[in-house]
Amino acid sequence: MNPINFILILSAIMFVNWNITFFIQTFFHHRYSAHGQFTMSAGWERFFGIMSLLLTSGYLSPRAYGLLHRWHHAFTDTPQDPHSPKGESGISGIIHFFWKTRNEYQRAVVSCKRGDVTKFTKNLPQFNWVDKVGENWVIRLFWITTWIATHLWIAWQVDGWWAIPTSIVFALSNVGMAPIHGFIINWLTHKYGYRNHDVDNTSTNLAWLSPATWGESLHNNHHKHPDSINFAERWFEIDQTSWVVKLFNWIGIIKIANP
Ligand SMILES: [Zn+2]
Ligand SMILES: [Zn+2]
Repeated sequence: MNPINFILILSAIMFVNWNITFFIQTFFHHRYSAHGQFTMSAGWERFFGIMSLLLTSGYLSPRAYGLLHRWHHAFTDTPQDPHSPKGESGISGIIHFFWKTRNEYQRAVVSCKRGDVTKFTKNLPQFNWVDKVGENWVIRLFWITTWIATHLWIAWQVDGWWAIPTSIVFALSNVGMAPIHGFIINWLTHKYGYRNHDVDNTSTNLAWLSPATWGESLHNNHHKHPDSINFAERWFEIDQTSWVVKLFNWIGIIKIANP
């Protein structure tokens, strides 16, 4: 295979994976589970729960994510915030940020398993068997191995040793899509960019990233109006997820809570 085609194929896989993973996370985990911006039938809830198991790289429990994210909105930039970059910088700051986010996510998983009932758990979706499969390490290792094996097989068709490390970097990026997305929203849009609203936290907007993040990078708008289905407020801000939400509402898959 010619090297240009090789890079094009890997980029296409990453592009599709990036968009599917981002869409499911913002549509289902963030806007539905954490914020309850719309409702759906138990059947559709199960459908999107299974999609988040099958289609995203690195399973995140919709219930635990919802709980973690509610903590973030309630305690933004305070010591109880599960992921605030405030006061953090450099590589050590980024490592600390990832480590804390990971630990807080685990705390949310344990809390969900225990069945804790708090003011943060109202109407969170529950998928016991999906969570069990998604959080099983054998299943996780199976997916990681599948990603790497597929990429190595593609690299095998290319003449040149460099294809192997390149394919591994692409494979690991696909496996780590959830932390990469988490970094963009929880770190970058709490550190860089502009603000439409002078809210009581560090949230910012990065409009140029909004098409690639399905509107999620309009984070300052979202902190100001967490119940709004449309994160975009100015002409140059794009939130494609809100278009899908409106379409799904129109078709009848979901029902917007506060139209
Ligand atoms: Zn935030
Ligand atoms: Zn939110």
